[in-house]
Amino acid sequence: MKLLALRCPTCAQPLKPQNPEVVVLRCGNCETAVAINDTGLDTVALQFAASAVEPDTIDAWLPLWLFNGRVNITSRQTQGRNKQAQQDSEQLWGYPRRLYVPAWDMPTEAACQLGGDMVQRQPQFQRTTQPQNFPFIEAVTTQEDALKLLEFVVFNVEAARKDWLKNLQFTIEATTPQLWAIPAQQAGSGWRLQPVTK
Ligand SMILES: [Zn+2]
Repeated sequence: MKLLALRCPTCAQPLKPQNPEVVVLRCGNCETAVAINDTGLDTVALQFAASAVEPDTIDAWLPLWLFNGRVNITSRQTQGRNKQAQQDSEQLWGYPRRLYVPAWDMPTEAACQLGGDMVQRQPQFQRTTQPQNFPFIEAVTTQEDALKLLEFVVFNVEAARKDWLKNLQFTIEATTPQLWAIPAQQAGSGWRLQPVTK
């Protein structure tokens, strides 16, 4: 499937994915964001987050799925007793939340960790117009996989509490996610995200 000639649905220029697992990339010619799926190629709406640092110090834009959703914890059993941990859990999931899944190529564990950090901080990105000549890191996580990863994100957050989680059952109700492009600077072998957040 991926061996077929890939052409931008907007300008018909050949697309040149860097990663064999690519699911969203940017056309190098017209800058359209293009999703590659089993049925073919589609343009995809990409939301750009405003940068908290000088735009010319941004090295790349990273893909991130953003859901609005609600996590319903139906059972949370622990070995330790820690009232604070239980309260924190109820406080976090007692309301609809923004839920985040990084979509660039990174180890699953690191993606869940970052997603969990963001769920707890609830950053709200400020939308901006598409920057010129933006280097976009290819997305390798589909929307469907992102929804599955969300379960690990929730589990990670709960397992990190100080009351020895033994068993957790929950359901996630989430809207169709938006794909955001988050400005970032290179930091060692990884990235430092630099969006404006409120
Ligand atoms: Zn194009």
